[in-house]
Amino acid sequence: MYETNYHRPSSLAEAAQLFSGADDAAYLSGGHTLIPTMKQRLAAPSDLIDLTRIAELTGIDQSGDTLTIGALTTHAEVAASPAVRSAIPALADLAGSIGDSQVRHRGTIGGSIANNDPAADYPSAALALVATIHTDKRSIAADDFFTGLYDTALEDGEIVTKITFKVPAEAGYGKFRNPASRYPMAGVFIAKHGDGVRVAVTGSGSDGVFRLADAESALAGAISADALSALNVDAGGLMSDIHGSAAYRANLIKVMAQRAAGNMGKAIIV
Ligand SMILES: Cc1cc2nc3c(=O)[nH]c(=O)nc-3n(C[C@H](O)[C@H](O)[C@H](O)COP(=O)(O)OP(=O)(O)OC[C@H]3O[C@@H](n4cnc5c(N)ncnc54)[C@H](O)[C@@H]3O)c2cc1C
Repeated sequence: MYETNYHRPSSLAEAAQLFSGADDAAYLSGGHTLIPTMKQRLAAPSDLIDLTRIAELTGIDQSGDTLTIGALTTHAEVAASPAVRSAIPALADLAGSIGDSQVRHRGTIGGSIANNDPAADYPSAALALVATIHTDKRSIAADDFFTGLYDTALEDGEIVTKITFKVPAEAGYGKFRNPASRYPMAGVFIAKHGDGVRVAVTGSGSDGVFRLADAESALAGAISADALSALNVDAGGLMSDIHGSAAYRANLIKVMAQRAAGNMGKAIIV
């Protein structure tokens, strides 16, 4: 790693001030993406601004049909939260499927959402659950937040403070894990809301997470695996890499969508 200045602010205002005063700063949450990137010398921020002591970024709360999760909440905390498990059990299961125990106890939902890895789990839940990403400056609908590979609507220095999810009538998640990294090669989150069904796919899109309109129409009547039997997922726009071709991923999306649709109320992890 290159030399870097380490800061540990105790408020959002202090963090933002440190960021704007530095040459090339980066925020640090769980560090499970940023630190490996720095170790590989792919990133060399002049200043690391550790967010983990900022109380404004913590907490889980449900009020009406809104579930709020603070940006610093670790994947393990989401998975174990009685509030999340009671409101959206598939979301708790999704969090429990991320990486391994070390990753889940350090990695945070805010870091994951801000990083927008095309294979991260949470972006699919955020799109399907009509989430809003709240920052120290504004609120951004998930529909407008994920703008491409590792790219988001966040401006330089903007801090994700919390994510609010719309509690659905029911939800399910189907995830096929890369056996080495445990990131999804295809992760399909289905949520049934009063005004329709949302289906979002992660792990497969060349531009990152996306909604699958054909699956949403097919499930509009009733949610079942059979309702997706005629689904034909277009391989155009899907990733091809050493782990699988676009055609393989297209088939995997259909299979994971059917697993999710046939097992609403939880996540099916393969
Ligand atoms: C071995 C391994 C396996 C993994 N498997 C999975 C998996 O199966 N599924 C999955 O989804 N993820 C997986 N991950 C990623 C893991 O979930 C990370 O925790 C996550 O990507 C980043 O969260 P973090 O808190 O560690 O962020 P950090 O590494 O601290 O930060 C990541 C990026 O986000 C920025 N950032 C962090 N917090 C904020 C904030 N509040 N506001 C604005 N910007 C911020 C940072 O500046 C940095 O650019 C895996 C990671 C590893 C190392």
